[in-house]
Amino acid sequence: MAIDNTLSPHGGELIEKIASPKDAPHLAAGLTRIAVRDSIAREVINLCYGFFSPLDGFMVSSQVDSVVKNMTLTNGLVWSIPIVFDVSSQAIAEVGVKQGDSVLLTYQDQALAVLDVAEIFSYDQETMARHVYGTADQDHPGVMRTLGLEDTFLGGPVTLVNSPIINPPFAPFWKTPRELRQRFSELGWSTAVAHQTRNVPHVGHEWMMKGALLSSEADGILVSAVIGEKKPGDYIDEAIVLAHRRLREAGFFLPHIHETSTLMWDMRYAGPREAVFHAIVRKNLGCSHHMFGRDHAGVGNYYDTYAAHEVFQNLPDLGIRSVLTLEWWYCPVCQSVAYEGHCGHRDQKEDLAGTVIRRIIDGGQEPAPTTLRSEILEIVRECADKYNSGSAFVTPEYLENRAPVFSLPTLDCCTCTEHRPG
Ligand SMILES: [Zn+2]
Repeated sequence: MAIDNTLSPHGGELIEKIASPKDAPHLAAGLTRIAVRDSIAREVINLCYGFFSPLDGFMVSSQVDSVVKNMTLTNGLVWSIPIVFDVSSQAIAEVGVKQGDSVLLTYQDQALAVLDVAEIFSYDQETMARHVYGTADQDHPGVMRTLGLEDTFLGGPVTLVNSPIINPPFAPFWKTPRELRQRFSELGWSTAVAHQTRNVPHVGHEWMMKGALLSSEADGILVSAVIGEKKPGDYIDEAIVLAHRRLREAGFFLPHIHETSTLMWDMRYAGPREAVFHAIVRKNLGCSHHMFGRDHAGVGNYYDTYAAHEVFQNLPDLGIRSVLTLEWWYCPVCQSVAYEGHCGHRDQKEDLAGTVIRRIIDGGQEPAPTTLRSEILEIVRECADKYNSGSAFVTPEYLENRAPVFSLPTLDCCTCTEHRPG
């Protein structure tokens, strides 16, 4: 089946900013270098491969202000999270960057992308936080992240000059929006439901996906696993992707209706604003539907349980439909996994909550078949041993020692007379 062109990217066109291998050494040659940290490197990659279409680079001040205050780009298109590159004013002074310059962004000492600096500006971080998160409370991790940004922003288009090499075990799960759309086409999908996750799937997640497939009548489900900044207690990234794949391999989904890929994104925990962002990115991946459950992208008690269900009601049609899911639990009266929207025995429900699953994974206790599939427990424990000396959850040692998700090869910049600096 051909790629269904009705599933067009946000803004209508997939933006890819990738220099050809022939052009890249010339583009990168002789430029002032700015080293970027992990989270900026991930966003550069997302921008250049079109995950963030229609953005073609880091936002300038008018875009930031429009996104922050109106939740739209300056052209009126819905956009909910500012995508910014923060640098300290001191670092800018040291490297001597000014508006109109092109700079080479480097990561782990390797060339990554060229940024054409359209604007150097500052923006009040508290205003940003208050609008994006609905609070400026410093106990909110997204607020802390925003308030912790450097004092100056560089805005402008980026062009990838060096393609990342995705390391094991993530390589099979990495697909750019173009590649994923191609994969959907190979699978014969013209519609797909996105399941955003940072979890190892328990039986409740499995049924949530099955329910979303049934209610949306989509051709398949895309597990879009968020791989990014981790905090202690999160599932390790390796376990998340490998466990979702195992769910399909073990036959809980037919092979042609279930696919897992990664999204390199640092959670902001912005609740409804982040739900909108997730919908836009998955639309760019080629999905026609997006699942939203309780507390989607929320944290603490900052957002209503179903705020991510309500936010879309006040927005224009985003071109991706929401599949709203309530809770799945185990019901001893129904003697099955049961859906909040069906089961009349709420007072007797047994939660399939994360805490129960954690106890099973940590405790060595075998799960009931209604909580966590034994195949999933097996792969999670394998990952714990292989990638984190026994724990399936992020520890300080894991953060210190983990193999990087991606690396960059060495790019030999052109040294011909025309491109030699000075
Ligand atoms: Zn029941």
